[in-house]
Amino acid sequence: MKRIQAYIPYVAHTETIPEATRAGLIMTTQGTDSIEKVANEVMVCSKCRLHDTRKYAVPGEGSASTKVIFIGEAPGEQEDLQGRPFVGAAGKLLTELLESIGLRREEIYITNIVKCRPPNNRQPRRDEADACRSYLDRQIALIGARVICPMGNSAIHTLVDPEKSVTELHGIPFEVGSVTYFPLYHPAAALYTFSLKKVMEDDFRKLGALLSVLGC
Ligand code: URA
Ligand code: SF4
Repeated sequence: MKRIQAYIPYVAHTETIPEATRAGLIMTTQGTDSIEKVANEVMVCSKCRLHDTRKYAVPGEGSASTKVIFIGEAPGEQEDLQGRPFVGAAGKLLTELLESIGLRREEIYITNIVKCRPPNNRQPRRDEADACRSYLDRQIALIGARVICPMGNSAIHTLVDPEKSVTELHGIPFEVGSVTYFPLYHPAAALYTFSLKKVMEDDFRKLGALLSVLGC
């Protein structure tokens, strides 16, 4: 398997904490970070311009004890209205593809590169993805993900390689340290290009096989 990019785990930033309280706080901040805490921070976040136009931020959902995380681009209209990821048409297809390999949504974790809907569903900008990145890194670290599935070019460019495309990378697992990346087409792509549905079905079958080999 090919090594494309080093995975940088989330590290709590403790340098700004006064010396006297540092030891205790390091334990507290690292020990008490949780998926819920990330979600609570996301819901009131105003770190980038997307907070101005969102209705609800969409932190992500699923199991906190899974080892498999699916990462899309950004919430769309339905997601923004409901505060949940992948609940529109693309979400319906994602749910079906997961079920085709025996996975229920509640068993895995689903989130996005940015947690707030870009106006008119435009692509998230680089500075927005950068502003939102620490939430995603914390989610990946807290879950202790062993398999990361970036879905579509936004997720692939942010997490894998800005120079590579989903057309080149989909369905091919590669390892970075203890994590296996398995890039996938974004489910919305199959809604626009019907022939991609079959490709996605094949990719999910391969993913199912990979998860059994890894025991996830
Ligand atoms: N598309 C995405 O990338 N994410 C969602 O949550 C919904 C649609
Ligand atoms: Fe904060 Fe991310 Fe929403 Fe921007 S997209 S406001 S960084 S949660």
